[in-house]
Amino acid sequence: MESVWETTAQKPGFDALDGNKSTHVLIIGGGIAGILCAYQLKTAGVDCLLAEADEICGGITKNTTAKITLHHGLIYDKMIRRFGEDKARLYVEAQTKAIEEYARLGKEIDCDFEWRDNYVYSLSDRNKITKELAALARLGVQAESASAHELPFPVAGAVCVKNQAQFHPLKFLYAIAKDLPICEHTKVTELAPHIAKTNHGTITFQKLIIATHFPTLNKHGLYPLKLYQHRSYVIALKGAQTIGGMYVDESDTGLSFRSYGNLLLLGGGGHRTGKKGGCWQELEA
Ligand SMILES: Cc1cc2nc3c(=O)[nH]c(=O)nc-3n(C[C@H](O)[C@H](O)[C@H](O)COP(=O)(O)OP(=O)(O)OC[C@H]3O[C@@H](n4cnc5c(N)ncnc54)[C@H](O)[C@@H]3O)c2cc1C
Repeated sequence: MESVWETTAQKPGFDALDGNKSTHVLIIGGGIAGILCAYQLKTAGVDCLLAEADEICGGITKNTTAKITLHHGLIYDKMIRRFGEDKARLYVEAQTKAIEEYARLGKEIDCDFEWRDNYVYSLSDRNKITKELAALARLGVQAESASAHELPFPVAGAVCVKNQAQFHPLKFLYAIAKDLPICEHTKVTELAPHIAKTNHGTITFQKLIIATHFPTLNKHGLYPLKLYQHRSYVIALKGAQTIGGMYVDESDTGLSFRSYGNLLLLGGGGHRTGKKGGCWQELEA
């Protein structure tokens, strides 16, 4: 199944690794994380090489809803309680800088970048909204209580943060990637200090960035054994009502909304893989 992003963007192609190579920084994985690392390194004049097992953006990135926001859930009240206000403020600062950087690049690249208000709503718990608003105020983020009246169902409350953004992720990333040192169809199959074996040869490196989304390196905390995969779904609806803001339910099993042109992108149905969840059927219903 192709995503709406894939059918509306022109993908550049990259050759596979040809023989052995050497680089200062090897980046494994050509999704949004790997490509933006390669872009920042190249811009800073650092020699780097990105190895992608298949084709760039072919992982999670091609199916994202592509909302750019510092408030992707009711996160800040929890974060302050768990990690303290200073760390939560660092997180907000990082998110704010990222939005600014997307906005800067979004001006230069034809990627349907649009400023939108972002809403996180709760269907049943007004108290959570009140606590989140207080947390955001402590962190100096301008946010307000909102009714989320665009949604076709009642909510207990919502937090609105203005001046967030949405874009076309593949138009953006394909434009950024086209001048980067990338090898597609180059899967890293084995890693040793400063050397990576791939299906097409070896790459020697000084520094390594693993941007494979799910960690592939079975070391340093055994993360591949501790993590589990979570799946969620998005459908693009023609002829649905238009929606100006970007919306997400605070609950893990709730819905997400944004528009793209005349399409409504409706997300949800999430579940841990192997367990029963709402899936496509929930969204269609
Ligand atoms: C339905 C949905 C909606 C979302 N909506 C949003 C949103 O609105 N806003 C937001 O900020 N985030 C959103 N996200 C999350 C966001 O899309 C992901 O966090 C992001 O796309 C992950 O990018 P990535 O580069 O880390 O991983 P990926 O895009 O999965 O890229 C990893 C790459 O690594 C490659 N790889 C793996 N193993 C190897 C190997 N051994 N050698 C070489 N290459 C390898 C893979 O082939 C893949 O291309 C959403 C996610 C989903 C599923």
